[in-house]
Amino acid sequence: MYPILEIDLGKLEHNAREIVKRCKARGIEVAGVIKGCSGIPECAAAIARGGCAYLASSRLGQLEAARRHGVELPFMMIRIPMLSEAAEVVRVTEVSLNSEAATLRRLHEEAGKQGRVHKVILMAELGDLREGVWDRRELLELALRTENEWKNLTLQGIGTNLGCYGSIAPTVEKMEELVRLAEEVERAIGRKLAVVSGGASTSFPRVMDENMPARVNSLRIGENILFGRDLKDLWGYDTHFLHSDVFVLKAEIIEVKTKPSHPVGEITFDAFRNRPAYTDRGLRRRALAAIGRVDYAWTEQILPRDAGVTVLGASSDHTILDIEEARRDFIVGDVVEFELCYGPAVFLSHDPDVRVVFTGGGNTPAPLSGEER
Ligand SMILES: *Cc1c(COP(=O)(O)O)cnc(C)c1O
Repeated sequence: MYPILEIDLGKLEHNAREIVKRCKARGIEVAGVIKGCSGIPECAAAIARGGCAYLASSRLGQLEAARRHGVELPFMMIRIPMLSEAAEVVRVTEVSLNSEAATLRRLHEEAGKQGRVHKVILMAELGDLREGVWDRRELLELALRTENEWKNLTLQGIGTNLGCYGSIAPTVEKMEELVRLAEEVERAIGRKLAVVSGGASTSFPRVMDENMPARVNSLRIGENILFGRDLKDLWGYDTHFLHSDVFVLKAEIIEVKTKPSHPVGEITFDAFRNRPAYTDRGLRRRALAAIGRVDYAWTEQILPRDAGVTVLGASSDHTILDIEEARRDFIVGDVVEFELCYGPAVFLSHDPDVRVVFTGGGNTPAPLSGEER
């Protein structure tokens, strides 16, 4: 039964290996980030096999599932922890990204209770305006308190995140600013930091351009490994070494008809309260696929593999395709395939109505139920 999300674990492992290799050549270790596929454990294992130093997620449950699946890498919590999950952060992960004194204190207390030492990377705000400390004095104070006061914490380094909210590019200048901050922290605490964590997939262009400052020795990479798309599609990099079809969505055609391309009647609002513009291209061959916006959210980010197929739009449970110029003569019951960008894949990978099938050297093709995921 469809829809199916087909995941090629061999290609995924290959992508991880290629990213890790390029980072390693520049003295950078990779935390492989699994949240982009909702932490599907088989994917986590493939990314781990690719040679990452850490496995990382914004969600502890995904990391726990990876552990249960047999991934032995140290784990990194990359969303600023909630106070209410501090004990779990200490129990499940080796290191977390942080920006708040109250949370650090709680992590210290919980680490004490568990007889552990928890590693901390302090996040610096460099202008993208999501997480991180903007005030330099506060950053130094948090560093000093982590170093001297919260004895069950180890200050492993500092880091930053760019490109996720404010769309700010991790330029050489931003990376140099991060290094300067690291050096300020080092002067304050009187020792060298082990880690300077320069960001996510968006920072990988610095590796490709060979202009990452030498002190940046860690990146947290998801998209490049999982989808291998943005470097190529958004930034024009040559990414022949990455597969951009690790994840393929397969949906079933439930209606094929020739219809007008412009709606007929008084135009009001669509299912999501929009008033879209429709182009009149006369009568066209159209197909409906049995999958919709509740499954993948963004119609423009599911990419038909047949170059002659266009996604016209979608409601909750129907995707409307123009197939006038399709290479194939689609009939009811046929399956249409899409490659995926980050957003749709996040949704599809934890969608109880979508069956996950592994190919390319995965262990078992047994589908995971919603609960197991
Ligand atoms: C999501 C996230 C990443 C990984 O982002 P990708 O774009 O998938 O590489 C890295 N760091 C932090 C803090 C994140 O939240």
